[in-house]
Formats: sequence, structure tokens, C-alpha cells
Amino acid sequence: MPELGKQNVEQDLSVQENCTSFVVDYEKQIFDLRQLLEISKSLNSTLDYTILIDSILFICMAQMKVIKAGIFTKKGFDSTEFVLQRNFKGFDIDISKDYAIPEQHPLIKLFSEKYGCYTLRDIHAAIGPLDGIEHIEAMEPSLLVPLKTKGQINGVIILGERIDETDFDPYEREHLLNIATLAAISINNAFLFEMTTTDMMTKLKMKHYFFTVIQERYGNIDMPQKSFNIIMLDIDFFKRFNDTYGHACGDMVLVSVAKTISEHVRNTDIAARYGGEEFVVLIAEDGPEIAVKIAERIRKAIEEKETEYDGQKLKVTVSCGVASYNKLIDSQPKSVVDRADRALYISKQQGRNRVTFLEQ
Ligand code: GH3
Ligand code: MG
Ligand code: MG
Repeated sequence: MPELGKQNVEQDLSVQENCTSFVVDYEKQIFDLRQLLEISKSLNSTLDYTILIDSILFICMAQMKVIKAGIFTKKGFDSTEFVLQRNFKGFDIDISKDYAIPEQHPLIKLFSEKYGCYTLRDIHAAIGPLDGIEHIEAMEPSLLVPLKTKGQINGVIILGERIDETDFDPYEREHLLNIATLAAISINNAFLFEMTTTDMMTKLKMKHYFFTVIQERYGNIDMPQKSFNIIMLDIDFFKRFNDTYGHACGDMVLVSVAKTISEHVRNTDIAARYGGEEFVVLIAEDGPEIAVKIAERIRKAIEEKETEYDGQKLKVTVSCGVASYNKLIDSQPKSVVDRADRALYISKQQGRNRVTFLEQ
């Protein structure tokens, strides 16, 4: 083939190759944009913090082909550190320790000033070794991805090794930052929702949230009614703690009782502060037996707990009322709560520090 003709053919082939790779790139980008849309829909579909964190982690693991992932977020408005959420995936770490990154750490400053994804190598080059947060290095992250919203870092995603052990290319890093931006907005919304539905003193849910959830879960009359139980609890002679030792003592007793209640309920149950020194628990289970057992366990745990104030041993007990949803008599979820309240009243009348189950 004459030299010029060969050149033309080579040029044609090269143009064709470029076009093909251009189309493939384009298709990949369209696919990834569609993925982002789906991710956005999925992350916006819940305000439940635990479900949201789970979704973000599974999305990152699937999109980036990693086998370990976790998220550090703040626990409250006044938190000064980012703590690893307990529903991390794959990392083999000691959960009794708090894995945290202080807000003032140079790593957070770096994320804030130069937003992007970082490997450990990138971080070492920018700020040197991670003094004080060596546990992050020990997790051997393949990439750290800050979450930023309204100009502030509100979390950090940590990814472990990749299935194929490859490095993240610039396109993947950019895609991950897009996911992180969506995640940061969702986390911010869920955080605000969590704060406005949680009683700051006891860290239990508020009454209005409790009623919203039982209405949403069990109030739809078109759905086959699922069963559930309600436990109402009221601290016995609580006023005496206030009157004898002051309001601060009363507050301490409230926090202590709330903590015991939370320790006895599962993720699917909901414990809320119903009023001053009254609590309510939704037990998402069929039949009353289990709810009566849980109420009895809580009552006993509170009675046996050593509660001290100002060197004085306090005798703290609670009275409980239990009621179980019965489709023959309960036209709406709220009537189960009323029945549990009546059961609690009977416990009070019969001498306190006891559990009463009221069938109807
Ligand atoms: P009973 O065994 O009949 O339930 O008696 P009790 O003293 O527990 O009940 P009572 O309703 O007479 O008193 C409840 C008190 O709880 C009255 C109120 O001042 C106090 N209280 C309500 N909310 C708080 C709070 O947030 N902190 C403190 N320290 N006290 C509170
Ligand atoms: Mg009381
Ligand atoms: Mg009361």
C-alpha cells in the first residue's frame, strides 16, 4: 500500500477508535447519572438515621466495589467529634472503643479547605501522619470521603479494600464525591429530624413522634392490621426526689430510668418520653406475653439499679401498664395506648412497682 493511503487508513481507524471510546465514555456517564438519580431518590426516601447510613454504605460498596465501609458523623448539635456509626460494614474492629475524629483535627481542616477524596498516601503528603487518630490508619482505608453541606464537614465515609485491589481513578473519585454530596444533604436532613424528634434530656423519642410512627405503621385501615403492644411506665413517687434533693436529682433519675428502658428495647421498638416522668414503649411483636416479659425485665432492672445522688442511695421504682392490640376492640392504635395507661393506673392503685396487663 502506498505510504499516503496507509496513513489515511491508520487515521480513519484512529478516528473510529476515538469515536467508539467517546460513545462508551458517554454511555458510562449517562449510566452513572441515572445511578445518581436513583441514589438521590433512595436517600431521600427515609429520615431514619440508621436506615439512611445503611443505604449510603451499601451504595458506596456496590458502586466502588469495596468490601468494607463505614461513616463517621456527629452525635448531637454540641458534639465536637465525628464518631464511627455502629452499623459499619466489614471492618474487624473492637466495638467497645469509640472510633472518633475530633472536629479540630488537621484531617478535618484539610477536608474542609481542600474538598476531595483522599487515600492515606494523599493525607500523609498533605498533613503527615494521623497523630491522635491512629485507629483510622489501623482500619487501612483505601479512601476517605468527606461529607460536606452548607460549607461544613458533617461526616466522613471510610472505604476499605477494593475487591479487585485497583486504585480509584479520577472519574471514580468524582462519581464518589457526587454520591457524597447527596449523602451529606440526606444526613443533614435526618440529623435535624432526629434532633427535633428526640427529647434532649433523656435521649428518648418525643410523644408526637411516637404517635406519628404508630399511626403510620398501624393506622392504615386498608392494610391487614399487624399486631403490636404498648408499655406505659411512670416513676413511683418521683416528686419526692425533686422535693427532697432538688430538681437536678429528679433530672438525674429521669436520665437513669430512660437509659435502662433503652437498654431493654430493640431497634424495631420505640421508646419515648410521654410526659414529665412517664414513658411509653412500642413493642413491635405479636401477642402480649413478650411485652409483659419486657415490662417486668425493665421494672426489675430499675429496682435493682444502684442510683446515687450526692452520696445518698435512692430507691427508684416504676409502675407499668401493658396492653396488646386486639382487632376486635381497637378501632385505632391510640386506643391501645389508652388501655396501657389504664393498666398503669391499676399498678399504681395496687401498690406501685409492678406490671399490670389489661386485656380490654
Ligand atoms: P406517683 O407515684 O403517683 O406517680 O407519684 P409522682 O410523685 O411520681 O407523681 P406526680 O405526678 O405527683 O409528680 C410528678 C412530678 O414530676 C411533678 C413534676 O414537677 C415533676 N417533673 C416533671 N417533669 C420534670 C423534669 O423534667 N424534671 C424534673 N426534675 N421533674 C419533673
Ligand atoms: Mg410518677
Ligand atoms: Mg406521672
